[in-house]
Amino acid sequence: MTQQVPLLINGELVQSESTNIIPVTNPATQEVIAHVPCATPAEVDRAVAAAKAAFETWKETPVGDRARLMLRYQALLKDNQDEIATLLAQETGKTFADAKGDVWRGIEVVEHACNIASLSMGETVENVARNIDCYSITQPLGVCVGITPFNFPAMIPLWMFPMAIACGNTFVLKPSEQDPLTPMRLAELFKQAGAPDGLLQIVHGTKDVVNQLLTHKDTPAISFVGSVAVGEHIYRTGTEHLKRVQAFAGAKNHMVVMPDASKNQVVNNIAGASVGAAGQRCMAISVAVFVGEAREWIPEVRDALAKVRPGAWDDPDAGYGPLINPQAKQRVLNFIQEGKDAGADCILDGSDCVVEGFPDGNWVGPTMFRNVSRDMSIYQEEIFGPVLIALEVDTLAEAIELINENPYGNGTSIFTSSGAAARKYQHEIKVGQVGINVPVPVPLPMFSFTGWRKSFYGDQHAYGKQAVKFYTETKTVTSRWFEDDIDTGVNTTIQLK
Ligand code: NAD
Repeated sequence: MTQQVPLLINGELVQSESTNIIPVTNPATQEVIAHVPCATPAEVDRAVAAAKAAFETWKETPVGDRARLMLRYQALLKDNQDEIATLLAQETGKTFADAKGDVWRGIEVVEHACNIASLSMGETVENVARNIDCYSITQPLGVCVGITPFNFPAMIPLWMFPMAIACGNTFVLKPSEQDPLTPMRLAELFKQAGAPDGLLQIVHGTKDVVNQLLTHKDTPAISFVGSVAVGEHIYRTGTEHLKRVQAFAGAKNHMVVMPDASKNQVVNNIAGASVGAAGQRCMAISVAVFVGEAREWIPEVRDALAKVRPGAWDDPDAGYGPLINPQAKQRVLNFIQEGKDAGADCILDGSDCVVEGFPDGNWVGPTMFRNVSRDMSIYQEEIFGPVLIALEVDTLAEAIELINENPYGNGTSIFTSSGAAARKYQHEIKVGQVGINVPVPVPLPMFSFTGWRKSFYGDQHAYGKQAVKFYTETKTVTSRWFEDDIDTGVNTTIQLK
C-alpha cells in the first residue's frame, strides 16, 4: 500500500488506528498516491488535549518570540516554495505556476503574522475620570480549529494557523481529505522553524471528525472554508455550541464589462479569471455581464476561452489542470447538460475534453453559455468548473441590480475607463471584494478577505486586523492609583521618583 498519511499530535507524527481510510488520487491519472485515515474520536480528543496543554505555556510566550517563530517559518516556506508547489500540483492537478501562487499567497499571510506585536496593540485613554485611566489588552482564546477545502491546500491553512498561533493560541487543523499531503508538509516546516510541540495538530477525516471538533468543549473558535451547504451547518452548529465561528462559503462572481473598457484587457482577463484553476476558485469569474455595445465582444471572449488548453501539472503550456475528482467532473457535466436542456446557447462546449496521454483525467474543456435566463440552474448555482456565463444588459444600473439580487457576495469586478462608473459600482454593489479593472480582487493580508452575504457567515474575516480580532479576546482595564501611596509606601516612592 502507498503511504498512509500520519496525524500530527503534540509534535509527533502518529499512525492512526482508524479502519476508515480514504485514497488520495492524482486527478490527472486516478493513480492512488496516498491513503488518508479518518481519525478516531479518541485521536481527535488527544489532539485537542495536546493543544490545550500547549496553550498554557504558549500564551505566556513573549510576543517577540512568537513573531520570530513566524519569521523563521516565512523564510523556510520561501526556501521550499517550489518543492511544496510540486507536491501541491500532484495532489490537486493544478499547473505548477498556479500551485506556486497558492503557496505564495499563504506565505504573504505568514509575513503579515510576523508583525503581530503592532497588530495586537490595545488602546489607552488617560483620565477617563479624575486620576483614572482605561486601557485595553488583547489575549488569546485557547484551542482554535481550522477546517479547510480542497482547492487551496496551502493558502487556506496558512490563512488560519499562523495568525491564530501568532496571537498566542494553539491550533487543530482538519485539512481537506482530498489533498492532505500539502498541509502535512506545511506542518513539518513549521516544526522545523522551531514551533514547540502541541502548537499545531493535524487530524484527518470528514464530517464525523469535523462535528466532533465543532462541538468539543475545549475548542472556543472555529474557522471554516468550503461549500455553502457545509458552511451553513458549521455556522449553525458552532454558534449553537456558543463558539466563535467564521465560515467562508461558496460564490458566484460577476464581472461587469462596460463598452468604454479596453477590449483586449477584457478578453484576456475574462479568459484567465473564469477557467484558470479549472474554475475551482472561490473568486473565479463565473458570470460576465456585458453592458450595451460591449455585447459585441462576446464572440472574441469565446475565441479566447477556446484557446485555453487544459493539461497535466508539469505541462508548461497547460492553462489549467483537471477537476479534483470524477464526481466533481460529473457534477460540472450535469450542469452543462442542464443549461443546454433549459435552452441556453452553449457557444463553447468542453464536455468531451480529451488530453493526450491522460485518458483517465477529470478533464472539462473551457465552456461558455449565452442567452441564459436567471432562473436556470447554471446561473443560480455555483458550478465550480471552467464554465462562463455571458449575460447582456443595457445599462450599468441593470447590471448592479441583477448582481445585488444574486445571493452570493464574495467577489466582483468592473472593467471600464470611466471613474464615475467605477465609483458608482464600488459604492452600490453588495459584494465584499470589488475589482476595478482587476478581475480577481483577492486582498493582500494587510487587509482582510471580506466576502459578504451567502459567501460568508460570521463577522470577523480572515487575515489582516480582523483575524487578530477573531483570534483574541479584548480585556479592558480601568485603573486608579492613590497618590497617598506615593508618600506612605516606601517601595513605590523609590520607583516613582
Ligand atoms: P466542502 O464544503 O465539501 O469541504 C470543506 C471541508 O468541510 C473539508 O475539510 C471537508 O472534509 C469538510 N466537510 C465536507 N462535508 C462535511 C459535512 N457534511 N460536515 C462537516 N464537514 C464537512 O468544500 P470543498 O469542495 O472542499 O471546497 C470547495 C468549496 O469551497 C466551494 O464551494 C468554494 O467556493 C468554497 N471556497 C470558499 C472560499 C471563500 O473564501 N469563500 C475559499 C475557497 C473555497
